[in-house]
Amino acid sequence: MVDGQKYEAVIGLEIHAQLATNSKLFSGDDASFGAAPNTHISPITMGHPGTLPKTNAKAIEYAIRIGLACGSKIAKDNYFARKNYFYPDLPKGYQVSQHTTPICIGGTISIQLPSGEKIIQLNRIHLEEDAGKSIHDISETDTLIDLNRAGTPLIEMVTEPCIHSAEEAFLFVTEVRKLVRWIGICDGNMEEGSLRCDANISIRLKGVTSLGTRVEVKNLNSIRNIKKAIEFEIDRLIQITETGGTIIQQTRSFDASDDTTFSIRDKEDANDYRYFPDPDLAPFHLTDAFIESIQKKLPTLPATLKKQWKLQYDLSDYAIDQLIENNKEADFYMEWAAASTHYKAIANWMIGPIRVALHEGLTNFQTLSTMIPFLVELVDLVESNQLSFSVASTKVFKQIIAHPSSPKAYASTHNLLQTGSTEDVEKWIDEVLAMHPEKVAEYKKGKKGLLGLFMGEVKKISKGKADPKMTTSLLEQKLA
Ligand code: ADP
Ligand code: MG
Repeated sequence: MVDGQKYEAVIGLEIHAQLATNSKLFSGDDASFGAAPNTHISPITMGHPGTLPKTNAKAIEYAIRIGLACGSKIAKDNYFARKNYFYPDLPKGYQVSQHTTPICIGGTISIQLPSGEKIIQLNRIHLEEDAGKSIHDISETDTLIDLNRAGTPLIEMVTEPCIHSAEEAFLFVTEVRKLVRWIGICDGNMEEGSLRCDANISIRLKGVTSLGTRVEVKNLNSIRNIKKAIEFEIDRLIQITETGGTIIQQTRSFDASDDTTFSIRDKEDANDYRYFPDPDLAPFHLTDAFIESIQKKLPTLPATLKKQWKLQYDLSDYAIDQLIENNKEADFYMEWAAASTHYKAIANWMIGPIRVALHEGLTNFQTLSTMIPFLVELVDLVESNQLSFSVASTKVFKQIIAHPSSPKAYASTHNLLQTGSTEDVEKWIDEVLAMHPEKVAEYKKGKKGLLGLFMGEVKKISKGKADPKMTTSLLEQKLA
């Protein structure tokens, strides 16, 4: 087990995110996931002699977008280099990447720890192309190759070695996934490999500032696996050290079947790759005006929005986190809240009935936007006790999303409004108490839990029209 007091874990993450462009980084080939194998492979992707790649401007724009969102410095002068190595899924024999000249330098992403906010320092975010895929588990004897992914655009985000636990790494990747989705540059889908992570891990004695020898666990494809791999490695490295062994710099892989890692190779030296600027690709210069135009299109970022919402709507942290998960939902909340003052109630409607209806495909944000006045009216009816939440959400809401119309008109023609009249409620209560003389006697002897039963009966015979607050207080008076 980890001796948490003696050692400190040091972790640096490299996150690859596939950019949501239509075409690949240097060719017009379709960059989408899931096509039949080897169908998105033009001669450019295959690196045939005489072909000329051309850089996809959208990919550059997306890389700048994430850089600006992280507060990175954007490099004005850029070029691509070739990283030469042989592997069957690399048709050209080299990967095009931005080796020494990342487009985004530095930057930060903040995570929320139980103990408070922590700023994770980024080293860089650079552009590169992806390789194809080797498939080992279809054939018993052969490795199959699908080159559709070769040449699709990636950004690689590299942190400084400033992460100190599996939990921090988990929160960081969660935040990155949220951010790339929020700014619309990557779908964040880890099962499809749109977001993958390599974790570099070392340990050192607490108080030491130099870095220990690291291991790198490659290609972690779920946030859970990232956490498990790091936990396993920290334990393993401590074990080696404690038993007098020596940690060797290694590249490892994660085995999700038992949450362990295994060595795939001793780490190669970086200059084995013989990097040099790609002679087929023009260097590119970014003007201030271009960068500013991207900055202008950037949506308000989740962290900023959180602070604004806290002041403006006074919601719980939980509600804010829920609603700032997805920008369509957040936008819709703001639209609805702008037309009402029941901020908390609207948040509850969003997290409850609205999500359910969206999930069941009964409506969509576009339709909901057109019926804001009806939704405002619906919440007003509930908040003013004219309609019970349960009738509102199960009956009236379902009706008005199917046929947008006034909830008040519908509720009143269908006799669903709580009358609110004291006499009516009293009449119902008297009826209920007359029906259950023994229960009344038990209640009076001290079985106060029976109040719920009387409430339920009143609700039943009033068909939900009795205001629950009024019912409770009148019942208590009558039974006293
Ligand atoms: P490479 O390109 O060979 O993978 P880098 O120096 O670019 O190496 O580092 C990659 C990642 O590894 C970065 O996130 C960095 O913070 C992290 N890292 C480097 N050294 C260590 C170490 N000793 N312990 C933990 N993480 C490290
Ligand atoms: Mg690396």
